[in-house]
Amino acid sequence: MVFDGHSDVLYDVTRLRLMGETHVLERLHRDRLCRGGVEGLVLALWTSAAQGQTFWETVPEADSDAARTRIMMDAAAAELAECPWLRVVHSRAEAEAARAAGQLYAFLGVEGMAAIGEDLTGIDRYADWGARLGMLTWNEENALAAGAGGDPEKGLTDLGREAVRRMQARGMVVDVSHLSDGGFWDVLELAEGPVIASHSNCRALCPVPRNLTDDQLRAIRDTGGVVGLNVYHGFVHTDPAGQTARTLALHAVHMAEVMGVEHVACGFDFCEFFGPGNEGAEGLEDCSRIGNLFYWLEQLGMTLAERRMIARENFLRLL
Ligand SMILES: [Zn+2]
Repeated sequence: MVFDGHSDVLYDVTRLRLMGETHVLERLHRDRLCRGGVEGLVLALWTSAAQGQTFWETVPEADSDAARTRIMMDAAAAELAECPWLRVVHSRAEAEAARAAGQLYAFLGVEGMAAIGEDLTGIDRYADWGARLGMLTWNEENALAAGAGGDPEKGLTDLGREAVRRMQARGMVVDVSHLSDGGFWDVLELAEGPVIASHSNCRALCPVPRNLTDDQLRAIRDTGGVVGLNVYHGFVHTDPAGQTARTLALHAVHMAEVMGVEHVACGFDFCEFFGPGNEGAEGLEDCSRIGNLFYWLEQLGMTLAERRMIARENFLRLL
Protein backbone atom coordinates (compact mmCIF):
# COMPACT_ATOMS: atom_id res chain seq x y z
CA MET A 1 0.00 0.00 0.00
CA VAL A 2 1.15 3.50 -0.83
CA PHE A 3 0.75 6.98 0.61
CA ASP A 4 0.93 9.67 -2.08
CA GLY A 5 2.14 12.88 -0.47
CA HIS A 6 1.08 15.11 -3.35
CA SER A 7 -2.02 14.82 -5.49
CA ASP A 8 -3.63 17.48 -7.67
CA VAL A 9 -6.93 15.65 -8.19
CA LEU A 10 -8.83 18.56 -6.62
CA TYR A 11 -7.91 20.49 -9.75
CA ASP A 12 -9.67 17.86 -11.87
CA VAL A 13 -12.58 17.82 -9.43
CA THR A 14 -12.97 21.60 -9.59
CA ARG A 15 -12.65 21.78 -13.37
CA LEU A 16 -15.26 19.10 -13.98
CA ARG A 17 -17.68 20.22 -11.28
CA LEU A 18 -17.69 23.71 -12.78
CA MET A 19 -18.78 22.00 -16.00
CA GLY A 20 -21.70 20.46 -14.13
CA GLU A 21 -20.27 17.03 -13.36
CA THR A 22 -20.47 15.28 -9.98
CA HIS A 23 -18.83 12.21 -8.39
CA VAL A 24 -15.59 12.97 -10.21
CA LEU A 25 -13.35 11.03 -7.83
CA GLU A 26 -15.73 8.10 -7.80
CA ARG A 27 -16.04 7.88 -11.58
CA LEU A 28 -12.58 8.89 -12.79
CA HIS A 29 -10.08 8.34 -10.00
CA ARG A 30 -11.20 5.78 -7.43
CA ASP A 31 -10.55 2.66 -9.46
CA ARG A 32 -7.06 3.59 -10.52
CA LEU A 33 -6.14 4.79 -7.03
CA CYS A 34 -7.12 1.33 -5.82
CA ARG A 35 -5.23 -0.43 -8.62
CA GLY A 36 -2.15 1.62 -7.73
CA GLY A 37 -2.43 0.53 -4.10
CA VAL A 38 -3.02 4.07 -2.82
CA GLU A 39 -4.32 3.94 0.74
CA GLY A 40 -4.06 7.67 1.40
CA LEU A 41 -2.93 10.91 -0.16
CA VAL A 42 -2.43 14.61 0.30
CA LEU A 43 -4.99 16.64 -1.62
CA ALA A 44 -3.40 19.91 -2.71
CA LEU A 45 -5.20 23.22 -2.92
CA TRP A 46 -3.49 24.49 -6.07
CA THR A 47 -5.10 27.64 -7.41
CA SER A 48 -2.33 29.38 -9.30
CA ALA A 49 -3.23 30.54 -12.78
CA ALA A 50 0.40 31.27 -13.55
CA GLN A 51 0.63 28.25 -15.80
CA GLY A 52 -0.87 28.83 -19.26
CA GLN A 53 -3.68 26.72 -20.67
CA THR A 54 -5.50 26.26 -17.39
CA PHE A 55 -9.27 26.02 -17.29
CA TRP A 56 -9.41 28.93 -14.86
CA GLU A 57 -9.23 31.30 -17.81
CA THR A 58 -12.66 30.07 -18.87
CA VAL A 59 -14.25 30.84 -15.48
CA PRO A 60 -15.04 34.58 -15.31
CA GLU A 61 -15.45 34.75 -11.53
CA ALA A 62 -12.07 33.02 -10.99
CA ASP A 63 -10.27 36.32 -11.43
CA SER A 64 -7.92 36.20 -8.43
CA ASP A 65 -6.02 33.65 -6.35
CA ALA A 66 -8.46 34.32 -3.51
CA ALA A 67 -11.48 33.71 -5.75
CA ARG A 68 -9.99 30.53 -7.15
CA THR A 69 -9.25 29.34 -3.62
CA ARG A 70 -12.87 29.83 -2.56
CA ILE A 71 -14.10 28.06 -5.69
CA MET A 72 -11.78 25.08 -5.17
CA MET A 73 -12.61 24.79 -1.46
CA ASP A 74 -16.33 24.77 -2.31
CA ALA A 75 -15.84 22.18 -5.06
CA ALA A 76 -13.76 20.01 -2.74
CA ALA A 77 -16.39 20.16 0.00
CA ALA A 78 -19.20 19.22 -2.40
CA GLU A 79 -17.16 16.42 -3.94
CA LEU A 80 -15.96 14.96 -0.63
CA ALA A 81 -19.55 14.93 0.62
CA GLU A 82 -20.21 12.48 -2.22
CA CYS A 83 -17.33 10.18 -1.22
CA PRO A 84 -18.20 7.96 1.76
CA TRP A 85 -15.16 5.86 0.79
CA LEU A 86 -12.72 8.75 1.33
CA ARG A 87 -12.20 10.44 4.71
CA VAL A 88 -10.40 13.74 5.28
CA VAL A 89 -8.04 13.28 8.23
CA HIS A 90 -5.76 15.48 10.30
CA SER A 91 -3.56 13.04 12.19
CA ARG A 92 -1.92 9.65 11.94
CA ALA A 93 -4.52 8.24 14.34
CA GLU A 94 -7.39 9.44 12.15
CA ALA A 95 -5.63 8.02 9.10
CA GLU A 96 -5.23 4.63 10.75
CA ALA A 97 -8.89 4.68 11.81
CA ALA A 98 -10.00 5.39 8.26
CA ARG A 99 -7.77 2.61 6.99
CA ALA A 100 -9.18 0.17 9.52
CA ALA A 101 -12.68 1.13 8.34
CA GLY A 102 -11.73 0.31 4.75
CA GLN A 103 -11.68 3.94 3.63
CA LEU A 104 -9.05 5.87 1.75
CA TYR A 105 -7.88 8.89 3.68
CA ALA A 106 -6.75 12.34 2.65
CA PHE A 107 -4.72 15.01 4.36
CA LEU A 108 -5.22 18.54 3.04
CA GLY A 109 -2.33 20.67 1.82
CA VAL A 110 -1.87 24.14 0.35
CA GLU A 111 0.19 24.51 -2.81
CA GLY A 112 1.05 28.18 -2.97
CA MET A 113 -0.29 30.92 -0.68
CA ALA A 114 -0.52 33.84 -3.11
CA ALA A 115 -4.23 33.99 -2.27
CA ILE A 116 -3.65 35.44 1.18
CA GLY A 117 -1.71 38.42 -0.15
CA GLU A 118 -0.14 40.15 2.84
CA ASP A 119 -2.75 38.97 5.34
CA LEU A 120 -1.22 36.30 7.57
CA THR A 121 -4.58 35.48 9.13
CA GLY A 122 -4.94 33.59 5.87
CA ILE A 123 -2.61 30.98 7.37
CA ASP A 124 -5.16 30.46 10.14
CA ARG A 125 -7.92 30.07 7.56
CA TYR A 126 -5.91 27.35 5.83
CA ALA A 127 -5.31 25.63 9.15
CA ASP A 128 -8.99 25.95 10.09
CA TRP A 129 -9.91 24.45 6.72
CA GLY A 130 -7.86 21.46 7.83
CA ALA A 131 -4.58 21.93 5.99
CA ARG A 132 -1.70 20.09 7.65
CA LEU A 133 0.94 20.94 5.05
CA GLY A 134 1.64 24.12 3.14
CA MET A 135 3.89 25.67 0.50
CA LEU A 136 4.45 29.41 0.54
CA THR A 137 4.57 29.68 -3.24
CA TRP A 138 3.83 27.67 -6.32
CA ASN A 139 6.57 28.74 -8.75
CA GLU A 140 5.74 32.43 -8.63
CA GLU A 141 7.11 35.23 -6.49
CA ASN A 142 4.49 36.49 -4.07
CA ALA A 143 4.31 38.56 -0.87
CA LEU A 144 5.81 35.68 1.12
CA ALA A 145 8.61 34.22 -0.98
CA ALA A 146 10.21 33.65 -4.36
CA GLY A 147 9.37 30.40 -6.11
CA ALA A 148 11.41 27.89 -8.08
CA GLY A 149 10.42 29.66 -11.29
CA GLY A 150 12.18 32.90 -10.35
CA ASP A 151 15.48 34.27 -9.11
CA PRO A 152 17.23 31.56 -7.04
CA GLU A 153 18.99 34.24 -4.97
CA LYS A 154 15.70 35.65 -3.71
CA GLY A 155 14.25 33.94 -0.68
CA LEU A 156 11.59 34.66 1.90
CA THR A 157 10.30 38.15 2.62
CA ASP A 158 9.97 39.32 6.24
CA LEU A 159 6.28 38.48 5.91
CA GLY A 160 7.23 35.03 4.61
CA ARG A 161 9.36 34.42 7.70
CA GLU A 162 6.37 35.36 9.85
CA ALA A 163 4.25 33.00 7.76
CA VAL A 164 6.61 30.09 8.46
CA ARG A 165 6.49 30.83 12.20
CA ARG A 166 2.70 30.99 12.06
CA MET A 167 2.45 27.72 10.14
CA GLN A 168 4.65 26.00 12.69
CA ALA A 169 2.60 27.43 15.54
CA ARG A 170 -0.53 25.99 13.89
CA GLY A 171 1.09 22.60 13.43
CA MET A 172 1.35 22.85 9.65
CA VAL A 173 4.32 21.12 8.04
CA VAL A 174 6.32 23.50 5.86
CA ASP A 175 6.77 22.11 2.36
CA VAL A 176 9.64 23.58 0.32
CA SER A 177 8.94 21.83 -2.99
CA HIS A 178 8.17 24.97 -5.01
CA LEU A 179 10.53 27.43 -3.31
CA SER A 180 13.58 29.12 -4.80
CA ASP A 181 16.95 27.97 -3.48
CA GLY A 182 17.16 31.13 -1.39
CA GLY A 183 13.73 30.45 0.06
CA PHE A 184 14.71 26.86 0.81
CA TRP A 185 17.63 27.92 3.00
CA ASP A 186 15.58 30.66 4.67
CA VAL A 187 12.96 28.07 5.69
CA LEU A 188 15.64 25.70 6.97
CA GLU A 189 16.96 28.45 9.24
CA LEU A 190 13.50 28.90 10.77
CA ALA A 191 12.59 25.22 11.03
CA GLU A 192 11.49 24.03 14.45
CA GLY A 193 10.47 20.60 13.22
CA PRO A 194 10.56 18.39 10.14
CA VAL A 195 10.61 20.22 6.81
CA ILE A 196 9.48 18.35 3.72
CA ALA A 197 9.75 18.59 -0.04
CA SER A 198 6.57 16.75 -0.89
CA HIS A 199 7.17 16.37 -4.63
CA SER A 200 10.77 16.97 -5.76
CA ASN A 201 13.51 14.73 -7.16
CA CYS A 202 17.33 14.95 -7.23
CA ARG A 203 19.21 17.64 -9.11
CA ALA A 204 22.19 15.26 -9.31
CA LEU A 205 20.20 13.13 -11.76
CA CYS A 206 17.97 15.78 -13.34
CA PRO A 207 19.28 19.34 -12.95
CA VAL A 208 16.13 21.48 -12.89
CA PRO A 209 15.20 24.10 -10.25
CA ARG A 210 12.27 22.01 -8.94
CA ASN A 211 14.66 19.24 -7.89
CA LEU A 212 16.98 19.30 -4.88
CA THR A 213 20.77 19.35 -4.55
CA ASP A 214 22.47 16.80 -2.35
CA ASP A 215 23.12 19.54 0.23
CA GLN A 216 19.39 20.32 0.26
CA LEU A 217 18.53 16.63 0.68
CA ARG A 218 20.88 16.41 3.66
CA ALA A 219 19.42 19.59 5.18
CA ILE A 220 15.91 18.10 4.99
CA ARG A 221 17.21 14.88 6.53
CA ASP A 222 18.68 16.87 9.41
CA THR A 223 15.22 18.26 10.25
CA GLY A 224 13.75 14.76 10.26
CA GLY A 225 11.80 15.50 7.10
CA VAL A 226 11.07 13.55 3.92
CA VAL A 227 11.34 14.09 0.18
CA GLY A 228 8.60 12.74 -2.08
CA LEU A 229 9.41 11.13 -5.45
CA ASN A 230 7.72 12.96 -8.35
CA VAL A 231 6.69 11.13 -11.55
CA TYR A 232 6.49 14.27 -13.75
CA HIS A 233 8.63 13.47 -16.79
CA GLY A 234 10.56 16.75 -16.77
CA PHE A 235 11.72 16.20 -13.18
CA VAL A 236 12.83 12.60 -13.83
CA HIS A 237 15.32 13.20 -16.65
CA THR A 238 16.16 16.04 -19.02
CA ASP A 239 16.44 13.57 -21.94
CA PRO A 240 13.09 12.05 -22.98
CA ALA A 241 14.79 8.66 -23.39
CA GLY A 242 15.57 8.68 -19.68
CA GLN A 243 12.07 9.62 -18.49
CA THR A 244 11.12 6.19 -17.16
CA ALA A 245 9.96 4.46 -14.00
CA ARG A 246 13.44 2.94 -13.74
CA THR A 247 15.06 6.40 -13.67
CA LEU A 248 12.69 7.55 -10.95
CA ALA A 249 13.74 4.47 -8.98
CA LEU A 250 17.34 5.63 -9.45
CA HIS A 251 16.35 8.96 -7.87
CA ALA A 252 15.08 6.99 -4.88
CA VAL A 253 18.33 5.06 -4.66
CA HIS A 254 20.30 8.30 -4.82
CA MET A 255 18.15 9.89 -2.11
CA ALA A 256 18.63 6.83 0.07
CA GLU A 257 22.41 7.03 -0.39
CA VAL A 258 22.51 10.74 0.42
CA MET A 259 19.87 10.96 3.19
CA GLY A 260 19.16 7.44 4.36
CA VAL A 261 16.14 5.51 3.16
CA GLU A 262 14.02 6.65 6.12
CA HIS A 263 13.74 10.11 4.49
CA VAL A 264 12.55 8.93 1.06
CA ALA A 265 8.81 9.07 0.39
CA CYS A 266 6.25 9.48 -2.38
CA GLY A 267 4.68 12.68 -3.68
CA PHE A 268 3.80 11.53 -7.14
CA ASP A 269 2.17 14.67 -8.54
CA PHE A 270 0.26 12.71 -11.20
CA CYS A 271 -1.29 15.28 -13.48
CA GLU A 272 -2.02 13.49 -16.73
CA PHE A 273 -5.57 14.87 -16.36
CA PHE A 274 -4.16 18.37 -16.97
CA GLY A 275 -3.73 17.39 -20.62
CA PRO A 276 -0.77 17.09 -23.01
CA GLY A 277 2.60 18.17 -21.63
CA ASN A 278 1.88 16.90 -18.13
CA GLU A 279 2.74 13.25 -18.61
CA GLY A 280 4.34 11.10 -15.98
CA ALA A 281 7.50 9.16 -16.82
CA GLU A 282 7.13 6.04 -18.98
CA GLY A 283 5.58 3.29 -16.89
CA LEU A 284 4.09 5.86 -14.49
CA GLU A 285 1.42 7.33 -16.72
CA ASP A 286 -1.19 7.47 -13.96
CA CYS A 287 -1.56 6.31 -10.39
CA SER A 288 -2.73 2.82 -11.37
CA ARG A 289 0.87 2.14 -12.46
CA ILE A 290 2.65 2.97 -9.18
CA GLY A 291 3.64 -0.69 -8.86
CA ASN A 292 6.15 -0.19 -11.68
CA LEU A 293 8.21 2.10 -9.48
CA PHE A 294 8.34 -0.52 -6.74
CA TYR A 295 9.20 -3.20 -9.28
CA TRP A 296 12.28 -1.18 -10.23
CA LEU A 297 13.18 -0.45 -6.62
CA GLU A 298 13.26 -4.19 -6.06
CA GLN A 299 15.31 -4.74 -9.22
CA LEU A 300 17.80 -2.13 -8.00
CA GLY A 301 18.27 -4.00 -4.74
CA MET A 302 15.91 -2.36 -2.27
CA THR A 303 14.61 -4.75 0.35
CA LEU A 304 10.92 -5.18 1.12
CA ALA A 305 11.40 -3.29 4.39
CA GLU A 306 13.00 -0.38 2.52
CA ARG A 307 10.26 -0.34 -0.10
CA ARG A 308 7.61 -0.25 2.60
CA MET A 309 9.32 2.72 4.22
CA ILE A 310 9.31 4.60 0.93
CA ALA A 311 5.77 3.54 0.06
CA ARG A 312 4.09 4.80 3.22
CA GLU A 313 5.87 4.52 6.53
CA ASN A 314 8.23 7.47 6.22
CA PHE A 315 5.61 10.04 5.30
CA LEU A 316 3.09 8.76 7.83
CA ARG A 317 5.66 8.80 10.63
CA LEU A 318 6.16 12.47 9.97
CA LEU A 319 2.46 13.32 9.73
ZN1 LIG B 1 3.55 21.20 -7.54
